[in-house]
Amino acid sequence: MRPIQMVDTKTQYHKIKSQVDNAVMEVMESSAFINGKAVQDFAADLSTYLSIKHTIACANGTDALQIAMMALDLQPGDEVITPSFTYIATTEVIALLRLTPVFVEVDPGSFCMDPADLERAITPRTKAIVPVHLYGQAAPMQEIMSIAKKHGLYVIEDNAQAIGCDYTFPGGSKKKTGTIGHIGTTSFYPSKNLGAFGDGGAIFTADDALAEKMRMIANHGQSKRYYHDVVGCNSRLDTVQAAILVIKLKHLDEYIAARRKAADFYDRAFANNKRIKVPFRAGYSHHVFHQYTLVIDGPEDPVKYRDGLNRFLADNKIPSMIYYPVPGHKQKMFDNVSVVSRPMPVTDWLTQRVISLPMHTELDEEQLKFITDKVTEYTSG
Ligand SMILES: *Cc1c(COP(=O)(O)O)cnc(C)c1O
Repeated sequence: MRPIQMVDTKTQYHKIKSQVDNAVMEVMESSAFINGKAVQDFAADLSTYLSIKHTIACANGTDALQIAMMALDLQPGDEVITPSFTYIATTEVIALLRLTPVFVEVDPGSFCMDPADLERAITPRTKAIVPVHLYGQAAPMQEIMSIAKKHGLYVIEDNAQAIGCDYTFPGGSKKKTGTIGHIGTTSFYPSKNLGAFGDGGAIFTADDALAEKMRMIANHGQSKRYYHDVVGCNSRLDTVQAAILVIKLKHLDEYIAARRKAADFYDRAFANNKRIKVPFRAGYSHHVFHQYTLVIDGPEDPVKYRDGLNRFLADNKIPSMIYYPVPGHKQKMFDNVSVVSRPMPVTDWLTQRVISLPMHTELDEEQLKFITDKVTEYTSG
């Protein structure tokens, strides 16, 4: 059996190696390392794939969030509502811009923003909402967008984990996640579903004025060369990364299918397991399985039980991860920062119980059988 990894980018690379190597060599030969042709090509291809008017490539997913928030003319102290149960980048950027992160709960099934808690958290200072499509499944966007509309709020979708995911509206029409709110952001960090061979990110919008502004902000606030109209930053996608992403985007749907196939295998193996709950699949959302995350069900001390499972799997050379061991509202970085947070029983409950199994495009049946057998062995003991 091939060694089991949390993410296997190497095997994936070897399947498209000659195309990738040629594309990289072409960039080397052209020496257009900054804003080369591939950057424009990739942005255009991604706009087509997502059916969105504007795609702005940038340096990483954290910058994408920062640039999006900078474009909204928010003032220090303005409140931005986001789930506590997410990767830290989502909330860190809010605080970095001297805005006030307001933490809300997630739904214990979908792991995504709870619309009822969102509505409770809105105050006259609220300016924006940042839902996260966590682990590869969409947040309930219909509800979130209607709450945003009612209160006149911006919505920035953090789509770093769900690129390619389809959201189905109640009428049956579909949109890709990241194109439903006013702005969407994503990351091409190597382990993401559409991963580069280094850092990368992108921003999406249908709004011409916001697109122009975000392009400017990402390029030192420059309107024309050496004329800088607003305070911006320097955030670019390397041409080499863009050239690789042009190739990998063509495979994204096939990568998603491979992840879903692995998830289906896990689901079947754990269907009758009383100790673990398999990921909930929302009717309104496709699931692109950035992570396959189980919830420990039942034991008196779930953290101890989970640590035991993690160790048992490690002893069998199976990696597993806790995404995320500390929720935003308990991170030390916010100790001396203005945040709004109430008790978060659901988030705390999940934080003690989630565990993610290996999930990537290259898992084969032999590996999946070995993993599921070992998980079953531990959880039936
Ligand atoms: C990965 C990730 C980011 C940040 O992306 P980087 O490219 O690493 O800066 C932001 N939000 C979420 C939910 C992520 O998973």
